[in-house]
Amino acid sequence: MMGPAHSLSGAAAWLGVGAAAAAADRAMPWPVLVVGALICAGAALAPDLDHKSATISRAFGPVSKALCEIVDKLSYAVYKATKKPGDPRRTGGHRTLTHTWLWAVMIGGGASALAILGGRWAVLALLFIHMVLAVEGLLWRAARMSSDILVWLLGATSAWILAGVLDKPGNGSDWLFSAPGQEYLWLGLPILLGALVHDIGDALTVSGCPILWPIPVGRKRWYPIGPPKAIRFRAGSWVELKVLMPVFMLLGGVGGAAALNVI
Ligand SMILES: [Zn+2]
Repeated sequence: MMGPAHSLSGAAAWLGVGAAAAAADRAMPWPVLVVGALICAGAALAPDLDHKSATISRAFGPVSKALCEIVDKLSYAVYKATKKPGDPRRTGGHRTLTHTWLWAVMIGGGASALAILGGRWAVLALLFIHMVLAVEGLLWRAARMSSDILVWLLGATSAWILAGVLDKPGNGSDWLFSAPGQEYLWLGLPILLGALVHDIGDALTVSGCPILWPIPVGRKRWYPIGPPKAIRFRAGSWVELKVLMPVFMLLGGVGGAAALNVI
């Protein structure tokens, strides 16, 4: 899928988690619902850091470009080192390492650890990165036509304001994990979920997605998961724009309303 569909599905998924949390008596305060949805929308672009023309690889100028090159090389090396006889030969790392459940768990866990150990500045950095990505993903064309610096400023100011809102008592910096010192431990959850939702979105497209790695399936360790070939679609096709995106919006709306106990 393309950036906007990935981001919308990420936001909808977090709103769905909000509905489930409300049903399980761990209701999210509204700032957790809103900030989590934005983080998840941004995180749903992250796995494509292995592709140099992807939104995320251009979002932070030379920094993300350099990171993209490293991630592509690393992914390719891991692919070559772990492939089984049934896995095809490849020339690059796109849609391999960063498109697996293990990667999602690792970056989600890493973000939680960073938020706990790194204190306020780490939380602000995580928020900044994901707010910039959310703007890129959700506002797409508008973000593309404005300068990078404006988008970064918007990301920085919204990170600062949202951290201020979350920090107020009862606003949810300690949602789900409420012991002292566990503030913002939950930040890893929308990041993990965003990556997984991205992988599932890619799995629906023509080439599938090796989500299960390193668990082997038959003669393949990088088995491309996906539905039967007949119902897969091409990235950016009308199915994505005219069917999936409105469905994500609808599901997100219903999930958000349920999360806030409006319905
Ligand atoms: Zn992808």
